[in-house]
Amino acid sequence: MKANYPLSNFNSISAVYLKRLGKLGIATLEDLIYYPPSKYQDFSKISKISQLKPDENVTIFAQIENISSIRLRFGKFLTKAIVSDSGGKLEIIWFNQPYLGKILNKNDLISISGKVSVNQAKLQLISPAFEKMDNFGLKNHDFLLHTARIIAVYPETKGVSSKWLRTKIASFLDIYLQFETDFLPKNIKKAKKLIDLNDALNWLHFPQNLDQIEKARRRLAFDELFLIQLAAQLRKNDWKQGETAPEIKIKSKQIEKFLKNLPFKLTQAQKKSVNEILADLEKSVPANRLLEGDVGSGKTVVAALAIYAVHLAGFLSIFAAPTEVLAFQHQKTLERILSKFDISVGIWTKSKKIKADVICGTHALISSLEVDKQVGLIVIDEQQRFGVAQRAKMIFNFEKKYRPHLLTMTATPIPRTLALTLYGDLDLSILDSLPEGRQKIDTFVVPQTKREAAYKFIEKQIANGNQAFIITPLIELSESLNTIRAAKEEFAKLQKVFGPNIKMGLLHGRLKSKEKEDIMTKFKNNKIQILVSTPIVEVGIDIANATVMMIESADRFGLAQLHQLRGRVGRGKYKSYCLLFTDSQSSQSIKRLKSLEIIDNGPALAEIDLKYRGPGEVYGFKQSGYINLKFANFFDHKQIINAQSEAKKIVLDKNFSQKYPLLFAKLKSLQFDFVHPN
Ligand code: ADP
Ligand code: MG
Repeated sequence: MKANYPLSNFNSISAVYLKRLGKLGIATLEDLIYYPPSKYQDFSKISKISQLKPDENVTIFAQIENISSIRLRFGKFLTKAIVSDSGGKLEIIWFNQPYLGKILNKNDLISISGKVSVNQAKLQLISPAFEKMDNFGLKNHDFLLHTARIIAVYPETKGVSSKWLRTKIASFLDIYLQFETDFLPKNIKKAKKLIDLNDALNWLHFPQNLDQIEKARRRLAFDELFLIQLAAQLRKNDWKQGETAPEIKIKSKQIEKFLKNLPFKLTQAQKKSVNEILADLEKSVPANRLLEGDVGSGKTVVAALAIYAVHLAGFLSIFAAPTEVLAFQHQKTLERILSKFDISVGIWTKSKKIKADVICGTHALISSLEVDKQVGLIVIDEQQRFGVAQRAKMIFNFEKKYRPHLLTMTATPIPRTLALTLYGDLDLSILDSLPEGRQKIDTFVVPQTKREAAYKFIEKQIANGNQAFIITPLIELSESLNTIRAAKEEFAKLQKVFGPNIKMGLLHGRLKSKEKEDIMTKFKNNKIQILVSTPIVEVGIDIANATVMMIESADRFGLAQLHQLRGRVGRGKYKSYCLLFTDSQSSQSIKRLKSLEIIDNGPALAEIDLKYRGPGEVYGFKQSGYINLKFANFFDHKQIINAQSEAKKIVLDKNFSQKYPLLFAKLKSLQFDFVHPN
């Protein structure tokens, strides 16, 4: 039997329950066994009825003297019991559990756990947990699952209670542990002071004290991070051992010349990243590096320098962008930087195809570009927008005698620890400071009552010669016809608001690329003053004149995304603003948005969002097949480093799969391959 054995194979779980469990993300035996409690209640104190005190959480062992149910108004039920032990009597009340009358009978011995409450100077237990016991139980109550102990409380769904889950977990855990042997090597357990898997799972669900919970969670959290890291380290080994890349000899004189030709000095962060990348390129091991930097941190010039070095060594470069607009923009930027050195920059999209020393392009690079010369470097901008398979294909497409070096870039402000977890197989360079003189963008969450004033404000900016972006409401996560219809309606409405004297353009994903390019060019030349755009369309262009970024239904975006969008303004010398609108009334939602008013740092915003919404929501891990951590914390830097260093040690041993067969089998069963593409 395997851990990922489907629960549907067990007769004891009906189809109805399977469906309900599906809502909790539980489909396999392992899902159930690893289902994390959301909290615990301590009912381990066992008390006599005569000694009960108000407000305490306790358990009593008592006999039912009488029990009866009555129907209240509105079809509600109330069940009342009087129970007694050697020293006293107590009233118990349950609401809306009409079946209790069938389960519990006069003279039954039961264990009851709950919080003592007071009603008209009389002590009571209201809707307590209960469990039947017999005379034997009075002496030995270890077998009790739901009372007289610390009990685990789980995230529930309609028809699946914590009590149900506890019962099933108790019975399946024994089965599970018969087949699953602890996969974690003894030496690691010893070195990291981790308990056995057996204990960890037992204590997670049925702890005897708080210390056991803590130890169980620590072990399970370590496992999660360790297995992810191990998979990543193995992929890293695969990547680095298999193929050779062209060794790019770096000519430092020419690099200096390149730097002198830039209209600015590189920031410290840029210099450091450049050095890391150039060092990669010099090796015959294919580079696989992620360059992470906030919007405007200057990633392009870092990539341009790498491309330049690769060109000097006689190899081509490929520069992939997720959208056509961006591909064209990169072409122009690179041309501006590289044409001085006689490097031609081409383009490869659906609509336009020119080969050159560097070829910028979209997904079309994968589907239709063939080159004769060896590609030395592939740069992928906004790497997360390329699918796993696409990235792999990109590399294999251009692999001839050599495997090209790979540099991926992202503006998604992933905290370093998170990046380590997710991209353990990548080398990481971070641009953690912006070029000097970047201004702070004043950001406001604008109440609907001030909408008119906001439009007036935009008009004033335009009267001063500036420009504005307006992002239309996010209707659906993909750019469907619905979204475009909504955008068109919004555009028509805005045209009325601003009148004929202000020129406006509408950008959305269904426009032909020629049309998109036209609009962008007009915007760039200030022939369009307000660019209205669907949120999906990348407005990743440099418009020095743009001073307002207005975003509708802002609550539907991640903070990091909003931060990225607002980075489109304030790129010139003018004071710039970001206006956020939301229909949401939720104070939590508003509070979340308001973090943008005070915080101007991508990674910090990302951390806040992780707390509000969880990594699945924030980074779309769920959609892209990324795992969700159940026990580990993305920010537990120490534990992540720990797990990584142990994983590195293990893979150093070439015979690791024979030496640690259990670990290897575990890893295989997890099918981690899609955690990260490379
Ligand atoms: P991003 O990281 O968002 O892709 P870009 O590469 O587009 O950022 O750079 C943003 C802007 O900053 C560009 O106009 C670029 O020319 C400029 N820039 C890049 N590096 C520096 C620097 N060291 N000093 C001043 N301006 C810079
Ligand atoms: Mg960029």
